[in-house]
Amino acid sequence: MTMAFRVLLLIFFGIFLAFGYAAAWLLSFLLHMFYPSTPVLTLDFFLILTTFFLIGVALFFFVLSRWIGVPLRSLRAAMDAFAKKGERAPIAISSLTPREIRQLVITFIDLAERVEHAHKRDTEISQVKTDFITTAAHQLRTPLTGIRWALEALEKGDTVSEEQRALIQNAAEKSHQLINIVGTLLNMSSIESGRHQYHFEPVDMQQFVPTVVADFDHVARARGVVLAYQKDSSRFPPARADKEQVRWILNNLIENAIRYTPQGGSVTVWMDMRDSLTLQVHVRDTGIGIPESDRPNIFERFYRASNAVSKENAGNGLGLYIAKTIAKDHGGDLSFAPNETGVGTTFTLSLPIAG
Ligand code: ADP
Repeated sequence: MTMAFRVLLLIFFGIFLAFGYAAAWLLSFLLHMFYPSTPVLTLDFFLILTTFFLIGVALFFFVLSRWIGVPLRSLRAAMDAFAKKGERAPIAISSLTPREIRQLVITFIDLAERVEHAHKRDTEISQVKTDFITTAAHQLRTPLTGIRWALEALEKGDTVSEEQRALIQNAAEKSHQLINIVGTLLNMSSIESGRHQYHFEPVDMQQFVPTVVADFDHVARARGVVLAYQKDSSRFPPARADKEQVRWILNNLIENAIRYTPQGGSVTVWMDMRDSLTLQVHVRDTGIGIPESDRPNIFERFYRASNAVSKENAGNGLGLYIAKTIAKDHGGDLSFAPNETGVGTTFTLSLPIAG
């Protein structure tokens, strides 16, 4: 019961008693007029009447709140616990609880059981899918690596014509892409299953990030995109990170930035501190941007924005989904925003500093 409601109730009783007293007094006065032997109501009598009345009202509300309020409050607490944490809390009902409330509790328990059952089934199906992807990806990786080595060896041989060399080169590139996809699938299934063993350690990001950026120098040059790492004058504390997983996130962000930036554009990487506990890595490009209608879904599995699909065939819409999951597992986050210039996008990876 809210405070305002209690005050209103008190005012209501005050008015009710005042009117009641006025009516009783008028009645006793009229009676006295016709039968002078009957007494006119006195204040004493009114006070006794009021006291009895108030005790009666208090008792009524006490019984009402025990009888209805307690089971209803406990049902609400149980619903809250289930909705917020998926936990089942006990509900205080007894055989004295009104039938309708008991029925409500039974319906809620039934609903909770159904939700739990559906969730369990979803988890099992998702586990089967994850296991299948992991097995298939493992099986594919070895023969694919073999094919790639064979193609690279062939490419280096001097018995092939230029035309054949170009074809072999193309096939080697495609097999490289396939190996990357298989790697992504393996990473996804291990991260998604929650079984991934992270190796968190203090990572000096000011030393680490430039080396990751440098790995993309040749790709950026080949695409005609200017790639730059902006050095900082200040020193940042090390991040608490799994180096190889953070490398995976940054590789994805930088690769995307280069892929979705037309020739002549630029990609810039820099760092700063969001607050004293959070370090941020920004990857900014002058690329095609992400259309407003696609923004809410960009971190969903297999989602690709319409403008990206028409520009780039290669892509599976998994990179950002996995990257965000890894960032969250670090206690950090991955977000993006369109550049204020109206051209391109900036992705921001935030990581907690090593404590
Ligand atoms: P992929 O790039 O393989 O399609 P991602 O999960 O890495 O998958 O990215 C999902 C989608 O997000 C891309 O298909 C593209 O629509 C969009 N996207 C990601 N990075 C950029 C970027 N730097 N500029 C524009 N769009 C981007």
